Amino acid sequence: MDALRTFYARLPIAAITAGLAYYALAALSLYLTEGVSGLATIWPSSGVFVAALLLSSKPQRPAIVICIALASFVANGQANATWSDAALFTIANVCEALMITWLCLYGRASGQVGNFSNLRSVGRFCGSAIIGTLSAALIAGFLSGKLSVPFVESWATTTLLGTLIVTPLIVTVVRIITSDKVRVTTGNLVESFGIAVILIALSAGVFGQTAYPLLFLPLIGVLIATYRLGGVGTAVGVFSVAMAGTLTLAGGAGAVPLIEGGRNAGTLFFQFYLLSLLIAAWPLSALLEQKRRLIANYAESNYFLELAESAAKLGHWHVGSDGAELGWSNEVYQIHGLDADHFRPEKTGAIKQGTSLDLYHEDDRENVRTTLLRALQQQDGFTYNARVVRPDGEVRFITSIGEARFDDRGNFAGLFGTLQDITAQTEILEELRQARESALREAENSMRLAETDQLTGIANRRKVMMVLADAIKVAEAGGSQLAVGILDVDHFKSINDRFGHAVGDHVLQQVASLCSSALREEDFVGRLGGEEFLIVMPGAAPEIAKLICERVRIAIQLADWTGEELDLVTVSIGIASHRDGADDTWLMQAADAALYQAKSDGRNLLRLAS
Ligand code: GH3
Ligand code: MG
Ligand code: MG
Repeated sequence: MDALRTFYARLPIAAITAGLAYYALAALSLYLTEGVSGLATIWPSSGVFVAALLLSSKPQRPAIVICIALASFVANGQANATWSDAALFTIANVCEALMITWLCLYGRASGQVGNFSNLRSVGRFCGSAIIGTLSAALIAGFLSGKLSVPFVESWATTTLLGTLIVTPLIVTVVRIITSDKVRVTTGNLVESFGIAVILIALSAGVFGQTAYPLLFLPLIGVLIATYRLGGVGTAVGVFSVAMAGTLTLAGGAGAVPLIEGGRNAGTLFFQFYLLSLLIAAWPLSALLEQKRRLIANYAESNYFLELAESAAKLGHWHVGSDGAELGWSNEVYQIHGLDADHFRPEKTGAIKQGTSLDLYHEDDRENVRTTLLRALQQQDGFTYNARVVRPDGEVRFITSIGEARFDDRGNFAGLFGTLQDITAQTEILEELRQARESALREAENSMRLAETDQLTGIANRRKVMMVLADAIKVAEAGGSQLAVGILDVDHFKSINDRFGHAVGDHVLQQVASLCSSALREEDFVGRLGGEEFLIVMPGAAPEIAKLICERVRIAIQLADWTGEELDLVTVSIGIASHRDGADDTWLMQAADAALYQAKSDGRNLLRLAS
C-alpha cells in the first residue's frame, strides 16, 4: 500500500493529463471511424504520446508511459475485438513513441527539443516519426498476426499523420506557454483562435461539398496562418484542417468519399493531402522563423553597435560609389546635433561636389574636401580633423578615419568612414598647450630677470661677465681683438648727497641708456654694481675702443641734465685690450687700473691700460 501511495504521490499531473488526453483522442478517433469503415484518417493519440515524452524530463517518463499505456489498452480494448489485441497494440504504441522520442533526442540536449523552428530539427523529427511508425506497424502486425500491406499501411499512415500533426502543435504551444522569453499577447491568442475557427469552417466547407473543387483553399489558409504565426500557425492550421476533414470524412459527406477506389482510397488521399500541407508549410515556417531570428540577431547587434558608438562618441558614415548616397549612423547625427527624422545627409548633395561640407566650419571645408577627393581618386584610406558647427552654433571637434570600399568583384563601391567627437580631448590638449606656453614664457621671463639689472634694465653683472667670458673665447679662437671699458660716474656720492637717492637712481638709468645708444651694434654694456658699468667691445682694437668710449663719455657729458636740476654729469672710463693669455680677471684689473688713472688725472677722461 505504501509503495502504491508513494507511486501515486510521485505521479505527476502531466502524466495523468497526457493519459486522459490520449484516451479521449483515441476514443474519439475510434468512435469516428467505427461507424463507417473502421479506417481512421489520423491517430492523434500517437502525437500526444510523443509530445508528452519530448516535453518531460527523464524521471517523469516512466509515469507517462504507464499512464498512456493504460489509456491505450482501455481505448483499444473498448473499440477493438479482443483484449489481447489491445495489449499487443499497446505494446506497439509504446515502442513507437519511445523510438520516435529516442531518435529525436539522441545526442541532443533536451532544451533543443521542441524547437520546430529550423529545417534540420523539422527534418529530424519527420525522419524519426517515419521510422518509428513503420517499425510500430510491423511490430503490431507481427504480434497480432495481422501482418499485411494494408494493415502496415493503415497503421503507419494514421499514426505518422497523428504524430506529425499533433506533436508539433502540443510541443510548440506548451513551450510558448511555459517560456519566459516568449510573451503571448491577447492579440496572438485571438489570432490563433480566429485562424483555427476560420480554417475549421473553411475546411468543413471545402470537404463537406461536392459542387466545387476547392481543395487548394485550406492550403492557402495554412500558408497564411504560417506567415502570420510561424510554427504555431502551421500546427494550428494543419490540425484544424485535419479535424474538419476527418469529421466530414467520418460523416461520409463531401468530395473525398467520392474518390474512385472507395473509402480506402479516399482516406489515403486525405492522408496525403494532409502530408502535402505539412510538407508545404513546415519548411516555410522554419525559414520564416530563421528569418525572424536573423532579424532579431541583427537588431541586437545593431543595438550593441549603437551603444558602443554612443559610449565611444564614435559614429560611422558611408558614401556610395556615385558620391550621392550618404548614410549616417545614429551617433553621427548626435555629433552633428541633428535629428535623423528631420535631416537627411543625402539632401545636402554629393560629397564629390563638396556641397555637403556646409556642416563643417568654413575654415576646415577645403581640407575635408581635398582629403576626401584624394581618397576617392586614389581609392585609398584617409584621416582628417575638422570642426563641426551644430545648428545652435556649438562647435565640436571631430576626427574621421576611413577608406575606399570595394565590392566582391573589386569594383569601387564608395567611401566608409568613422566619425569621432574629440572635443573633450582637443580641449584638454589646448589647455595643455596653453599651460606649456605660459610656463615657457615664465621661464623666459625668469631667465631675463636673472640676467637684468632691475634699476637700469640693462644686463646685470652676472650677464655682462658671461658675455665677457664668451667674447674672450671668441677672441682667442679667432685671434681677433677685444677691448673692455669700465665706466664710473664721477663724484656720484655727492650727486646722491646733494639731490637725493632718487635723482642718483635716475642718473644711473640715464647713463645706462646713453651708453647703450652710443655703442656699436656688436658692443655690450652691463652694470657691474653701484655707479660702475662694464663695456665689452668685441673685435675692437685699442684705438677703436678709445673712439667708442670717447663717444660714450661725450654723450653723457653733453646730455641735458637740467631735468634733474644738475648742470653736469661726467664719467671716467678705463680701457683694457685683450692680449694672449689674458683672462677676465686680468682684463678687469687692467681696466680698473686705467680707470683709477683717469680719476687721478682729473676725471671726465679715458685712460688706456698700459
Ligand atoms: P668718484 O668720482 O671717485 O667715483 O667718486 P664717487 O662719489 O662717484 O665714488 P664713491 O665710490 O665714493 O661713491 C659711490 C656712491 O654710489 C656710493 C653709493 O652710495 C652710491 N650708490 C651705489 N649704488 C647706488 C644706487 O643704486 N643708487 C644710488 N642713488 N646711489 C648708489
Ligand atoms: Mg665707484
Ligand atoms: Mg664714482
